[in-house]
Amino acid sequence: MPRSLTVVLLLFVASLARPARAGQADGRFDLYFIDVEGGASTLLVTPAGESILIDSGYPGFQNRDLDRILHVVRDVAKLDHLDHAVVSHWHLDHYGNHAALAANLKIRNFWDRGIPDDLQEDRQFLERITAYRAATQNGSKKLSVGDAFTFPTPGTPLSVKVVTGSREVIANSGEPNPFAAANKPQPEDKSDNAASLSTLWSFGDFTFLTCGDLTWNIEAELVTPNNPIGQVDLFMVTHHGLDVSNNPTLVHAIDPVVTVMCNGPKKGGGEQTLRTLAGVKSLQASYQLHRNVNLPPEAQTTPARIANTEPTENCAGRWIKASVAPDGKSYTVQIADDGPVETFQTRTP
Ligand SMILES: [Zn+2]
Repeated sequence: MPRSLTVVLLLFVASLARPARAGQADGRFDLYFIDVEGGASTLLVTPAGESILIDSGYPGFQNRDLDRILHVVRDVAKLDHLDHAVVSHWHLDHYGNHAALAANLKIRNFWDRGIPDDLQEDRQFLERITAYRAATQNGSKKLSVGDAFTFPTPGTPLSVKVVTGSREVIANSGEPNPFAAANKPQPEDKSDNAASLSTLWSFGDFTFLTCGDLTWNIEAELVTPNNPIGQVDLFMVTHHGLDVSNNPTLVHAIDPVVTVMCNGPKKGGGEQTLRTLAGVKSLQASYQLHRNVNLPPEAQTTPARIANTEPTENCAGRWIKASVAPDGKSYTVQIADDGPVETFQTRTP
C-alpha cells in the first residue's frame, strides 16, 4: 500500500474514533435556549468546544427540566461534560438543577454572583443552597461587574463581560442613550431578580446580551444617561418576558435584531414586553419558547417562530438554537433540529 494512502486511511480511522464534539470542528459559536417552561437554561458552545451553561431550570416535575438539559447537552450538542455552569441569580427556576446536573455530568467550574447568607423571598433557601454548595464542593467562583474573559478560538475572538450583578452596573460609558429620558421608574425591587448577573458576549462583530431576571430600575440604570452596551445582534428577552422587566429604556437602546424569549405557556410573554419588542427599530425576528396561552395570536410573534404551542407543560420541550458563523459575520436561528433555518447578517459596528 502506498504510504500516502496509509496515512489517509489512518486519519479516517482516527476521525471515526474521536467522539463528536459540538463546535470543535466547525468553528461556530452555538447558543441553545433550552425549554424549561418559564425558567431559564442557556447552553453556549464556543468554536473550540468549550461549554458554558447559564442557569438550569426548575427542579422536580419528574426531572422534566433536568432531562431536557441533559438531552441538549449530550445528544444535541454532543458534549460529555460542562466546562462552566453559571447561576444568574438565586431563584429556583435558574439554579434548580445545578446539583442534579453535577450528579450526572462532570462540571469543571461553577460561577455565581456570590452566595448570600439568606434570601428573604425563599424560606427554603438555606437547604437549597446546601445542595448547591455540596455539588460545587464549596468551590463556586464569584462573578462581579466588570469581570471579563476571553475564550480560546481558532480565529475570530470570543469574549464575555459581566455588565450587571448584585445590583451594580458597569461604568456608564458610551454614547448618550436617546431613550433614557423616557424612563418611568418603578418601586424598588428588593428581590434577587434585581441582583441578576447580566453578560455581554462578543464573537467578532456578533454580540449577545443576556440579563437573567434583571428588573426595570436596574435595567434603566445600566443605560442611563449613556449606553455602555451599544446595539446588539441577539438579545435573550429578560425575565421570561415579564412586564416588570424589559424596560424600553434598555430594550430600545440595545436595538436587537433577533430576540429569544424563554417563557412558559402561562409565565412571561407579557403584553407590554411584546409591545416593547414590536417597537424595536432594527428587529427582524423574535422567537418565543412558548405560545402564551393567555394572549391572542396577534399579540405574539408569528407561529413559525414559536417553539412550543401546546397549552400545557407536557410539551415536546423544543429548544431554539442560534449558531454564529466562524467569522462572526452571520448567524442562523432554528427551532430544534427540524425547524426552518433563518439566516441573519451581523450588524456592522
Ligand atoms: Zn426566572
